[in-house]
Amino acid sequence: MAPLQCCLFISHHRCDGPEREKGNIVDANIVLLPGDGIGPEIVAQAERVLQVVAEQHGHEFHLSSHPIGGCAIDEFGDPLPESTLKACRESDAVLLGAVGGPKWDDPHAKTRPEAGLLKIRKELGLFANLRPINPNPALLDSSPLKRHIIEGTDILFVRELTGGIYFGDSGVQEKDGEKTAFNTMVYSQSEVKRVVRVAAAAALKRRGKLTSVDKANVLEVSRLWRHTAEQVVKTEFPTLEYEVVLVDAMAMHLISRPRDFDVVVTGNMFGDILTDEASMLPGSLGLLPSASVGESGPGLFEPIHGSAPDIAGKGIANPLATILATAMLLRHSLHLETEAAAIAAAVTRVLDAGHRTADIARSGETSVGTVAMGDLVLVELAS
Ligand code: NAD
Repeated sequence: MAPLQCCLFISHHRCDGPEREKGNIVDANIVLLPGDGIGPEIVAQAERVLQVVAEQHGHEFHLSSHPIGGCAIDEFGDPLPESTLKACRESDAVLLGAVGGPKWDDPHAKTRPEAGLLKIRKELGLFANLRPINPNPALLDSSPLKRHIIEGTDILFVRELTGGIYFGDSGVQEKDGEKTAFNTMVYSQSEVKRVVRVAAAAALKRRGKLTSVDKANVLEVSRLWRHTAEQVVKTEFPTLEYEVVLVDAMAMHLISRPRDFDVVVTGNMFGDILTDEASMLPGSLGLLPSASVGESGPGLFEPIHGSAPDIAGKGIANPLATILATAMLLRHSLHLETEAAAIAAAVTRVLDAGHRTADIARSGETSVGTVAMGDLVLVELAS
């Protein structure tokens, strides 16, 4: 591999200025939040990928690393220190590893690592969570579903992230010794419109099909969702193929005919459940990235898996989900489609060639470690 001579600056303090484009050269501030457990190991590989992309295309990526989660509690007593939040706010994009671990699991603790995650999503106004589900052809036999069902599946889930039942009024009431608990599902038209616009715009760039999932046969809030979504699509995205599906039917369709869907948009709780169901289709957590985006400001990109404390420090974590999250970062926050596609293609070639980390190796197959898998992706990127 050629030595790195990219315009890349790595510091522990952010560099100035928003993303600027000079011709096709992008100058961007990217914040890295390695976090806990395997987070630092996998983000280190993604960082190398960013270095090579910058070198190959002449971009200037200013990378700065900041604490979040358990390590930030240890250092600052706060899972999202003000300095980290400030760096994220002023950045063009944020790449997160994972947070959490047994060290910070005490239920009586004043704060927990996950509080840092919830806060950063809220503070950056990240209302849409994008999760692509496209099982890699080389790994189809790792899926719990039959090959002929999942082959060709390529879904982009867009889940509303900051509204709905998880954020509505809730409480517990007691009358005559009987307790009653409630949570309220609430959506405003503007909350629905903005997430449907994100999903519809993504569908236009893909196969042009949008599926909205609700429970309009039962829930008033879903009837408003359905009506509002239809209006947005009809008036602003008339060329899209559009359908609505009830959430219970969608749970079945996902495992019986996943190939039929392109972009799927849904509310917070339905999306929470359906995306976890869908994440089983590819057969491994170590391969799935996700992006959380808002109307403006930086997006947050991360693997969907957690900090895997059981394998932290062993050098065997699969870095591919984080590397693919880097591709999403380049695509969605920096609009570098060619570079994003090159990373995804490099990962596919590595898998096609039979290279596996332990989590995706079948019994009897040899496996490579985290750094070796990073090396393999870099070699493919350079080829
Ligand atoms: P997990 O995703 O961390 O691990 C589940 C299993 O998958 C483990 O056996 C782990 O070794 C394996 N695994 C996960 N990622 C892998 C990778 N890249 N390569 C190889 N194997 C991998 O889920 P968990 O064990 O339930 O949670 C562990 C910690 O992570 C908890 O503290 C939890 O709160 C936290 N968590 C954080 C996030 C996040 O930061 N976004 C998400 C989920 C869980």
